[in-house]
Amino acid sequence: MDDEKEWDELDIWEKTNVRADTMVKEALQYWVNSGRQRISTTPVPGTPWTISISGETITSKIRSEIYESVWTPQIQKHWCKRMYIEHEQSNLIDWITFGKTMKSCDDNDRQFRTKHMAHISATGINMKRRQEREDDICPRCEMGENNTHIYECTTDETTDIYETCCLEIEVTVDSK
Ligand SMILES: [Zn+2]
Repeated sequence: MDDEKEWDELDIWEKTNVRADTMVKEALQYWVNSGRQRISTTPVPGTPWTISISGETITSKIRSEIYESVWTPQIQKHWCKRMYIEHEQSNLIDWITFGKTMKSCDDNDRQFRTKHMAHISATGINMKRRQEREDDICPRCEMGENNTHIYECTTDETTDIYETCCLEIEVTVDSK
């Protein structure tokens, strides 16, 4: 209810305002109750409104800043799980570089990387299980080809490819 008028006395604009106010309060309560960090909207004299995340006022790219504040921790948690790293150790990872290398490749490469990290790429073990190959042997050496063998294979050809790729990543990361 409006502070001074009964509900029936309110016009359509006033009723809509009350409804919007109620919905905002419910949404904020839901947000806080779900354990997420508080996003405060504190008006500052001279500006219509401001938004701050973790105490820092956001002045540009508001949509992406909010998106990142919500999803970055979730994405990092996901990758830690994928890479078998304790979430508490996630601060040891250079996430900025990690993001740059993911953005540096085209869609095909990104799809391959994502499949590889999810352990569903075309490794010998997966291909044998899918009955696409007779055996799970690495095409370059005699060992079984699982996910980690892709970068642990010690043949000269694999080493050359690995070193070239590392160099490309280094150049990409240093150039941005
Ligand atoms: Zn091999």
